[in-house]
Amino acid sequence: MTFSNKSYATYTAVRQGLGRTRGPASQHACACGQPAHEWAYDRSDPSESFSASGLAFSSDLSRYLPTCRSCNRGAANVRAQERRAAGYLDKATERFAKYVVEGGATECWPWLGTVKKNGYGQLWFNGKPDRAHRVSYQINKGPIPDGMLIRHTCDNKVCVNPNHLLTGTPLDNARDAIERNLYPRGETQGRAKLTLVQVEEIRRNWRNRTESQRSMSDRFGVSTSCIQFVATGNSWIGLGESA
Ligand SMILES: [Zn+2]
Ligand SMILES: [Zn+2]
Repeated sequence: MTFSNKSYATYTAVRQGLGRTRGPASQHACACGQPAHEWAYDRSDPSESFSASGLAFSSDLSRYLPTCRSCNRGAANVRAQERRAAGYLDKATERFAKYVVEGGATECWPWLGTVKKNGYGQLWFNGKPDRAHRVSYQINKGPIPDGMLIRHTCDNKVCVNPNHLLTGTPLDNARDAIERNLYPRGETQGRAKLTLVQVEEIRRNWRNRTESQRSMSDRFGVSTSCIQFVATGNSWIGLGESA
């Protein structure tokens, strides 16, 4: 069966064309044998188009199959998911772009929209509020893998430069938090007392009982309570922002 493509440039025209040339779908049977409910595009057209609302359609009317409700529902769910994913991304990209001034590839790009008390930019994404740097990652780099967080390599919470964003585990994030706490930002009196490497060593020694609190205190030049704090600071680490 062949049909002219000329007049079917829009989704609506295709729908009308189908009714006119092939009749109501209900006059046909679905592939499963049930009475068909509607014409469903089979997604086989390499040059398919998209309607304003993101629906994929083909101008080639032969690519539509009479489909019953239950056969169409599965396909519709998939299509709806695709549409939502595409729509959210489009809208978010637009909104996102309004509040970002892109700088150089290695510079921080501060978020110019809402910034919450926790220091992170925020905007709506995927139907809920999300942190701006996470949205930046999803727009620019792709979905965030399950169980992963998005971390800043620049330790600048309002930065949304995708080049400064990495996925990480909650453990990585805890390390970041330690580092932040040991190198407090905005302090002018210089060096923090412990490096991240030292913190890891302290925690290892503590865990393996290979060095006493006192000995580490002497060696690293910090109080024993500081050693204890660093070594057992699970709850303290938990206070770090989980990005
Ligand atoms: Zn069916
Ligand atoms: Zn940055």
